[in-house]
Amino acid sequence: MDMLINGIAATAADKTWIEVTNPATGEYVDRVPRGSEEDVNAAVEAADAAFGVWSEKTTRDRGLVLYRAAELIRRDHKDLAEILTREQGKPIRESTDEVRGCANIFEYYASIAGLPAGETVTLGKAGDCLVTRVPLGVCAAIIPWNMPVLIMGWKAGPALLAGNSLVLKPASTTPLTNLRIAGLLKDAGLPHGVLNVVTGPGETVGAALVKHPRVKKISFTGDCATGHRIREMAQDHLKTLTLELGGSDPMIVMADADIPKAVEGALRGRFYNAGQICTAVKRLYLHEKIAEEFMRLLTAKVEGLSVGNGLSPGTDMGPLNSAEQLGRISSVIHETTEREEGTIRAGGCPLTGSAYEKGFFYTPTLITDVAPDAALLSNEIFGPVLPVVTVPDLGAAIREANHSKYGLGASVWTKDLATVKQVYQEVNAGIIWVNRHLTVPPEVPFGGTKESGMGRENGSKALDSYTQTKTLYLGW
Ligand code: NDP
Repeated sequence: MDMLINGIAATAADKTWIEVTNPATGEYVDRVPRGSEEDVNAAVEAADAAFGVWSEKTTRDRGLVLYRAAELIRRDHKDLAEILTREQGKPIRESTDEVRGCANIFEYYASIAGLPAGETVTLGKAGDCLVTRVPLGVCAAIIPWNMPVLIMGWKAGPALLAGNSLVLKPASTTPLTNLRIAGLLKDAGLPHGVLNVVTGPGETVGAALVKHPRVKKISFTGDCATGHRIREMAQDHLKTLTLELGGSDPMIVMADADIPKAVEGALRGRFYNAGQICTAVKRLYLHEKIAEEFMRLLTAKVEGLSVGNGLSPGTDMGPLNSAEQLGRISSVIHETTEREEGTIRAGGCPLTGSAYEKGFFYTPTLITDVAPDAALLSNEIFGPVLPVVTVPDLGAAIREANHSKYGLGASVWTKDLATVKQVYQEVNAGIIWVNRHLTVPPEVPFGGTKESGMGRENGSKALDSYTQTKTLYLGW
C-alpha cells in the first residue's frame, strides 16, 4: 500500500519498503514505502499549501467531511477490521469496536462543528475585544501500533475540524488501516494535501517530522522515552505538544464492591488488546476481606481465556504485536521470578505448540505476593500481566496507587460515595472511573498527569490544543 502525499499515492523517494506481517502467523500482509526525510518534506509542503484552502472553509463544511468519512468507515468496517487484525493481532471483535470507535469520533467532532468559538471581552470606555480561535497550520500526528485506528481518530478528528492540515506517521508495524482510513477521508471530500500519510521508521521519518520548522504542533502517543526525545527535538521551534505517554493505572476494589462485576472489569481492563493499552489496569489493589474470593473468580476467568489468531471466531486474546513486545514481556516475568518479586498464579510463559510457533503469543498472567518495590509495579507493563496486591484499607490503597511515576487513569470499585469522593480527591490521575475501567467515549477528555504526558485528547477541549486565540481589540 502506498503513502498518501498531496492526495496522490506515493512510493518512497528511494523506492524501499517495509513489510507488514501478521503477528499471529508471521505471514506477509502487505508492504508500505520506507519513507525518508525527502518524503516528509514533500508531505509538509503539500500540507502547508493546502492549509489556506481548508482553514478558509466554514467549520460546518469541515464537519460535513468528517461526517461523510464516518459513514464510509461504517460502510467498510468489516474490511477495515480484518486489515487491523491482520497487522495488529487483536481479535476481530476488538478491531470492529475500534474501527467503529474511529467513526464515532469523526461523527462527534462533526457534531460540535462551530464550537472552537472564542469570546468577547468588554472593557467599558477602553473598548471591546473579539477573541477568536484560529487553527495552528500544519500539525503532525505520530501514531502507535496498539490502537492505531482509534488514536488516528483522536488526533485527526479535532485537528481537521479546527482547520489545520495534517501529516500523519503511522507505526511501522500497523500502517495499513491508517492508510485505508486516510483514503476514505479523501473520498469523503477532504481536499488534496490536507491529510498526508508518510510511512517509515520513527527514528528517521518521525524525527524529521518533529523537527520540520513548518510543523506547528506535534501530537504523539507512545513510549515515555520517545516522548521525552520528541519534546527535546520540538523545543527549537517552540512547537505546541500533546504527549500521551502511557500509564500504570491502579484498580482499587473495596470490600463492598460488586465482586463479579469487578472481576469482569479486571479481566477486560487488563487483557483487552492483550494488555497493550496505555490505560489498561496495570496494578490491582484488593481489599483483604475480598481478596481470596476475588482471586479465585479471576484466576478461573483468566485461565479460561481463549488465546489465538484474532481472525478465528471465539478468540478472546490475540498475540502481542511484535517480537520486541514478546521479548519485553518475557523478560519482565523472568526478572520478577529471578528476583523473587512475586508468585505466578496463572500463565507466566509464552504459548507453545504448533498453533503458536510463528506468532508472538504470551499466556494471560496473574502475579500475587508482589514485592512493594517490584519493577512490575513501578514500570509500565504493556502486555497481559496483572500484578495483584492486597491492602488493609482505602488509605493504603490510595498511597500505593499514587506510588507511581504515571498518572493516567485509575478506578475504584465500591458502592460507597465517601470512598468515591476520597479516591477522586486524593488519587493523582487524569481520569478516575467508578465501577468501570478503560471506557473512553469521544466526549470525554483523555490524558494524564506526571510522566503520563501533557495535554488532553478527545472531547471538545481537544479543539483548544489545535487552535490558538487571536484578539481584535476595538478601541471605540
Ligand atoms: P514508540 O514510542 O517508539 O513508538 C510510537 C510511535 O512513535 C511509532 O509511530 C514510532 O515509529 C514513532 N517513533 C519512534 N521513535 C521516534 C522518534 N525518534 N521520533 C518520532 N517518532 C518516533 O514505542 P514502541 O513501538 O517502541 O513501543 C515501546 C513501548 O512503548 C511499549 O512496550 C509500551 O510500553 C510503550 N507504548 C505505549 C503506548 C501508549 O499508548 N502509551 C503505545 C505504544 C507503545 P515506528 O513504529 O516506526 O518505530
